[in-house]
Amino acid sequence: MIAVLKTGVEAAQQENLISWLEGMGLKVHISEGEFHTVLGLIGDTSRVDMDLLEGLEIVESVRRISEPYKKANRKFFPDDTVVDVSGVKIGKGHFAMIAGPCSVESEEQIILVAQQVKAAGANILRGGAFKPRTSPYDFQGLKADGIELLLKAKAVTGLPIVSEIMNANHLPLFEEVDMIQVGARNMQNFELLKELGKTNKPILLKRGLANTLKELLMSAEYIMAGGNENVILCERGIRTFETYTRNTLDVSAVPSLKEMTHLPVIIDPSHACGHSRMVPSLAYAATACGADGLIIEVHNDPKHAMCDGAQSLTFEQFEKVTKKVEDIRKVMAE
Ligand code: PEP
Ligand code: MN
Repeated sequence: MIAVLKTGVEAAQQENLISWLEGMGLKVHISEGEFHTVLGLIGDTSRVDMDLLEGLEIVESVRRISEPYKKANRKFFPDDTVVDVSGVKIGKGHFAMIAGPCSVESEEQIILVAQQVKAAGANILRGGAFKPRTSPYDFQGLKADGIELLLKAKAVTGLPIVSEIMNANHLPLFEEVDMIQVGARNMQNFELLKELGKTNKPILLKRGLANTLKELLMSAEYIMAGGNENVILCERGIRTFETYTRNTLDVSAVPSLKEMTHLPVIIDPSHACGHSRMVPSLAYAATACGADGLIIEVHNDPKHAMCDGAQSLTFEQFEKVTKKVEDIRKVMAE
């Protein structure tokens, strides 16, 4: 249930109301908007007399909400959330251009890619150290060494880094990682999500291969319920009957999620289509439909990449994409 307060309510009146609600065993989430304060009532609201609440002098309106996601719900928190990734803001007009290889392969590789994507306009470096591969015989990533190499690339370029975690036991290795990625395959690994909820790190939560937007938000809710509200959602293509592309990019996830939640939403065009030649088109579509950022795989030598070479852009291709994305953003801001 949410209660929207009238404008200009005095602090003492607001506090009285909150103590009364808390006295009924409810938790009250306060969201101070530009014009209105919204109180989100969490818990068993069946005991709340809606008419009584709505009749109070300081209350403008009361609404029951049925969605099971509360903290991620835009109704509770109407303003867009801005997530700060070590100084790089994402959301509410701040755009993330995340780029880098699917996996970290060597010190030379990750430093070169970091320098090149930064020069081309990226503001965050990606790189997988722990890789979720479909086959156990495929390259599984450099693991802890991969994280060390990402930190070196960060020291050289100043770019914040994002890398995927697959096991909560690895959390100590991610101490200096700026943003932790939860991959599509782990979107519903609830024990992992709960552990991430106890940290204060920004979390890049990717949509599962066959998950609804509501399920994505429930996974975000797991992290937020633990106290970590720094969640960024990522649409990365879903599984459909179509096989021409690796997955099917659900572009409508962006406007849909924007209605449902206040969290930033970014798009991964690389995993969505699986073909480097298609990545630019999807990146432009994502930008035009209001995504708060992109995460794009870029490799120094895509043909010889240890993972996902077919969908990785060269430096030149990536630079063209960043320029056009900037142009599209200008048009969209008009
Ligand atoms: C990745 O980002 O390299 C990755 C494995 O992504 P996803 O979880 O979306 O497949
Ligand atoms: Mn990949």
